[in-house]
Amino acid sequence: TKQDCQQINDYIWEIPTGFKEQMNVPVWIFADEELLEEALKDLSVTQAVNVACLPGLAGHVAIMPDVHQGYGMPIGGVMAAKVPDGIISPGAVGYDINCGVRVLASQIDYNSAKPYLSDLATSLYRNCPSGVGEKGSIPLSADELDKMCRQGAKWALEQGYAEAEDLSRTEEFGCLEGADPGSVSKRAKDRGRGQLGTLGAGNHFLEVDVVEEIFDPQAAEIMGLYQGCLVIQIHCGSRGFGHQICTDYVQDFQLAVINYGIQLPDRELVCAPINSKEGQAYLGAMKAAANFAFANRQALAYHARRSFAEVFGSPEKPLRQVYDIAHNMAKIETHKINGEEMTVCVHRKGATRAFGPGFEGLAPEYQKIGQPVLVPGSMGTESWILLGTKANDELSFGSSCHGAGRVMSRSKAKKEIRGDRLRKDLEKEGINVRAGSMPGLAEEAPKAYKDVNRVVETVSHAGIAQKVARLRPVAVVKG
Ligand code: 5GP
Ligand code: MN
Ligand code: MN
Repeated sequence: TKQDCQQINDYIWEIPTGFKEQMNVPVWIFADEELLEEALKDLSVTQAVNVACLPGLAGHVAIMPDVHQGYGMPIGGVMAAKVPDGIISPGAVGYDINCGVRVLASQIDYNSAKPYLSDLATSLYRNCPSGVGEKGSIPLSADELDKMCRQGAKWALEQGYAEAEDLSRTEEFGCLEGADPGSVSKRAKDRGRGQLGTLGAGNHFLEVDVVEEIFDPQAAEIMGLYQGCLVIQIHCGSRGFGHQICTDYVQDFQLAVINYGIQLPDRELVCAPINSKEGQAYLGAMKAAANFAFANRQALAYHARRSFAEVFGSPEKPLRQVYDIAHNMAKIETHKINGEEMTVCVHRKGATRAFGPGFEGLAPEYQKIGQPVLVPGSMGTESWILLGTKANDELSFGSSCHGAGRVMSRSKAKKEIRGDRLRKDLEKEGINVRAGSMPGLAEEAPKAYKDVNRVVETVSHAGIAQKVARLRPVAVVKG
């Protein structure tokens, strides 16, 4: 309950280790009063307390304001496991490994584009394969799949799906070193081979937005964001490939937990010592899925560019990548934790990296201002582009929020909201909707999500990210 949360400041709360005997580190909740109450309504905080019981953690478990309950660890959770003594947990990365968001920006003015937005939505829906099947994917031989998994966006560049600048403006430059296709099951590969370059169904989307307001003109200029102009957001991950890898390792780690004598507060948090052969195998497979997802969003960006060219002709200044960011991933990084530099495996599940200025793994122009953070809201509300800060190192291991976060379960949304009516309402507000499934659309209704503006206020006041621009949707494509 709220009584168990000690207020650190207006936007940070702590559940101390004394709350539960098995806790090894405290839990920090980033929230204002209202979002804290929201977070306490489902199992999010209970799950975070369970995570805090895992062995070998550093600092604290951080919960973002967009948190909601998930498999084992809440979505919107961050934990840092010590390297080499800590653990790695597939459930704390999530089923959709390297689910993430990419934003590309244009200099096409909304007012002049308005008459063509319906055509644009139709073209995007046609060019970007969606739905549950494999139709329209980029077919891959077994060898080619392995190569793509090792190289990620680099593979996409070689194949002609990328521009060089896209890679420099992608987290980890679109390729995690050390991906190991040998640690990926045949089943995962069979599922993955027919799904590259597809959006899938459910929560994934393509969305055209207008840059509605700019809060940091210097950063916006560097990112290539122009007030009143169109941008596109791409949200998707590693499809069945990553999902199968997570499924496989959750299964395998049941045994690892016994073999290494790890006490678990919840079966769903199965994990293995990071330097064990099991832990390393998962890490190699996770990286393969992460690279799949980078290549996947790259292929979708290629299709999006085709659609813009179809509708607007080939403009002098075409769609330019702003950034591509992961929000389900584990990464080995160094952070200052309780005043001490430490190497940790940061698990971000429904949370993004949000590094501040000076980080060498960024393109030179972003080393100056910090890493862009992409925060989708919902298809009927605002989305945000933020910047990482230096201060978040000690607060959230260089992490921020990944969205607005659910308040209504998918099943409840489907029961309470009618997809066709929702679509009409959105169209009335000038948002062009193309969706493969009306019940699927209902699950993603704006009402099913928290207030993204409140979430963004929280992370900015807490000091873990700062505002650059607010976006407003004008066309959305759902599987
Ligand atoms: P997740 O990866 O957790 O499924 O989704 C990330 C976030 O995307 C959600 O928390 C929600 O705020 C946001 N979101 C879901 N659907 C849409 C959409 O159609 N458009 C936009 N802009 N955001 C969405
Ligand atoms: Mn996602
Ligand atoms: Mn996903």
